[in-house]
Amino acid sequence: MAKYDVVIIGAGAAGLTAGALLAKLGKKVLVVDRDEYLGGRAMAIPHEGYRLNLGGHLLEDSGSGITKVFEFLGKKLEHGTVNQGLPFWDNQLGKWRPIQERYQVDKGELKKVITILCDTEFGQLDQWDHAPLRHWLLQHTQSEGVIELFEYVAMAECLTEHWYDHSASDNLYVRKMHYQEKRTAGYSFWPVGGWDGLFQTLADSVVENGCEVRLRTQAQRVIIERGRVVGVALESVDKAIPTEAFNYEIVETECVISTLPVWNVLSVVREQDLPDWYVAQIKTLAQDHFKVCWLGFYVATHEPIYTGTHLTELAVWFEAPHSRLPGWAFLTSGVDPSTAPEGCHLFNCGFAFQGLRPREWIEQKFEEAERDLAVMYPKTFTPKNIIWKRRHLVGHPPFGVIQKPCLVGRYRPDYVVPNVDGLLMASETFRSRGIGVDRAARAALTCVEQVIGHRLPEFKDSWHY
Ligand SMILES: Cc1cc2nc3c(=O)[nH]c(=O)nc-3n(C[C@H](O)[C@H](O)[C@H](O)COP(=O)(O)OP(=O)(O)OC[C@H]3O[C@@H](n4cnc5c(N)ncnc54)[C@H](O)[C@@H]3O)c2cc1C
Repeated sequence: MAKYDVVIIGAGAAGLTAGALLAKLGKKVLVVDRDEYLGGRAMAIPHEGYRLNLGGHLLEDSGSGITKVFEFLGKKLEHGTVNQGLPFWDNQLGKWRPIQERYQVDKGELKKVITILCDTEFGQLDQWDHAPLRHWLLQHTQSEGVIELFEYVAMAECLTEHWYDHSASDNLYVRKMHYQEKRTAGYSFWPVGGWDGLFQTLADSVVENGCEVRLRTQAQRVIIERGRVVGVALESVDKAIPTEAFNYEIVETECVISTLPVWNVLSVVREQDLPDWYVAQIKTLAQDHFKVCWLGFYVATHEPIYTGTHLTELAVWFEAPHSRLPGWAFLTSGVDPSTAPEGCHLFNCGFAFQGLRPREWIEQKFEEAERDLAVMYPKTFTPKNIIWKRRHLVGHPPFGVIQKPCLVGRYRPDYVVPNVDGLLMASETFRSRGIGVDRAARAALTCVEQVIGHRLPEFKDSWHY
């Protein structure tokens, strides 16, 4: 029976980060994923000569997160294009406007609030897990412009229907990190080499350090005996015969890092092996109602679809003309021309909503969203310009768990599984802070330090739990 120091379930941002760090630190590691591609929810796949990013669009690391992980591994994560221009759709006027026109910010007042935030310890922000962002802001400013600016960034980052209902703590953590490290409210970039390049580099690092990454390998069960992890039952996704089942390979280990999100972790870790209150916490967050979903389009075109502000713009709307949904759009080939064949362009957009909806509702919204795009991009979202378009639905899995009050910070299940020796949960849906891929990487770093039993000095200035 093969034996590993650590088995990591999932080869997304969290799993590959944990695997690469532990391999570098000399542990014998196995990373498994049931998919054929690396990257989990943020994977990039080839499609008809284009490269579609199924998840990742922009990476929100101001330097101390996944970028620092790359440095530790002796690799480089190059920060590529940063969006130039944030046009927003004014549905009352029926036109695009520069974001500056919406937010008339009193600069002195903004500076004051930023200074207060930067002077506040990260730990103090934990006290705001229960409250909306606006409650924290109102303690320090009455300026509607400043409040709206903070809420706009939160909306663009976290995609909720209700912009006024974001968690204070989760958003302030990110604002503080970005202000301190980059002197800006929101910092995001396209990774040079693409998202597939980013995940491949991490996987290469696992292998270069003598460890394994196995794809199309499903973890069926974390084997827990008398409160300790003893192994993992694995099964190949590729069946030798169509009816093949229960042909498990058992690997021995005393430590498992699961990177499975709250929606599917209980299919691999049995409920009866966990405390009931911990299971209840997982199930609360896993409710369909709290999933951040969207319906969207990948569109390949001859001429670029954009508002005219800049090819690298990030366009946002709070209300689209027909669907009435909030959303975002950007030209993938604008930020990275290699994602489309020469002379062609790739456009990507999403219309966000909270919680899974019935099929009929989604079908109707897809129809309305197509009409929205025809109104918002009348010259380029046209049959003549479109080479192909693909509808896509983000719900299984979703973008994430909604970052609302009482669903963040200490309200999320701990990354150290209580009462089970050797089981850790590295996932942005468990206790963690940050945004998306960077958040997952920081969660992994926390778990890695837990496994080795001490903090890594190289990450002393990188915020993570
Ligand atoms: C459409 C979309 C757009 C997004 N846009 C952005 C963005 O622009 N920027 C950003 O930073 N973040 C973005 N995110 C969020 C980001 O993708 C996630 O937060 C991040 O990728 C989560 O990484 P993870 O490793 O924690 O989890 P996951 O990526 O979910 O990884 C879990 C892995 O476990 C594997 N798995 C599941 N069950 C098993 C099993 N039984 N056995 C083996 N393997 C298993 C899955 O295949 C998956 O690879 C987006 C997400 C979506 C869905």
